[in-house]
Amino acid sequence: MQTVKTLQMLRTALAQLRGNTGTRIALVPTMGALHEGHLTLVRSAREMANHVVASIFVNPKQFGPNEDLDAYPRQLAADAALLEAEGVALLWAPDAEAMYPPGFATNVSVASVSEGLCGAARPGHFDGVATVVCKLFNQVAPDLALFGEKDFQQLAVIRAMARDLDLTRPHVDSIIGVPTVREADGLAMSSRNRYLSPDQRVAAATLPRAMQAAVRAIESGADVSSTLAGLQAEILGAGFGSVDYATLADSRSLASLAALGPEPARLLVAARIGGTRLIDNLPISAR
Ligand code: AMP
Repeated sequence: MQTVKTLQMLRTALAQLRGNTGTRIALVPTMGALHEGHLTLVRSAREMANHVVASIFVNPKQFGPNEDLDAYPRQLAADAALLEAEGVALLWAPDAEAMYPPGFATNVSVASVSEGLCGAARPGHFDGVATVVCKLFNQVAPDLALFGEKDFQQLAVIRAMARDLDLTRPHVDSIIGVPTVREADGLAMSSRNRYLSPDQRVAAATLPRAMQAAVRAIESGADVSSTLAGLQAEILGAGFGSVDYATLADSRSLASLAALGPEPARLLVAARIGGTRLIDNLPISAR
């Protein structure tokens, strides 16, 4: 595996990888501090393409002023070893200067789907995500790109961007969502889980457990708003300090739903425990 840190080196390495026509390249964008969730994306990518390009970039534009940009874990050498062991061909690891040279002035902003949920709690976050992912798509020009359903709203924002801007590499239909990978107790894997104290880590597993119970209740016809109120109470009772949202939403538009309808729906939650904000989401079968 080759690690490249400048755009020029990236272009040269990509030209070598592409070689023959028909060679398919998959991109797996990450912010590093890799865990099994990320590695699952890489394994899926390997099955779907000839070569996998992974990126590691802790994108300053997607962090708010009071968020954890400085504290975010950085471990490039360890991450590179994990990616190499998974058969990644190329690691794109630019620094902030390479990604945003002096004079950088463009913002990619996706309205609508980015506005509620995490977009409401983290102003500017999805502009930062859309801008960097648009750049990564143009830099690597992959045939397909893989993202986790763990960040369900992020996946929706990226798909909307690719559709609205008529992107071709990748085309919106080649943006692949991969189901969330979980710890044995159900907690969704996240680079931020390492911020949790041992007690918080135990309490955090209440989140997916309570969400699964809420999904079962809603699927069996329970009232949505009282189920969501009960879910919030259970999360707070387990030791979470606040719940940013606990919402039933349409899987495509992410518009919130008062009741389950014929379209696929999703239960989405963001809650804070200590200083750590955790998100999770689960599918709900339509009626
Ligand atoms: P991050 O490094 O947190 O920006 O995540 C990079 C990619 O990995 C994103 O597409 C995430 O949605 C995905 N990802 C993160 N955690 C998980 C997980 N537990 N299961 C599946 N994908 C994940």
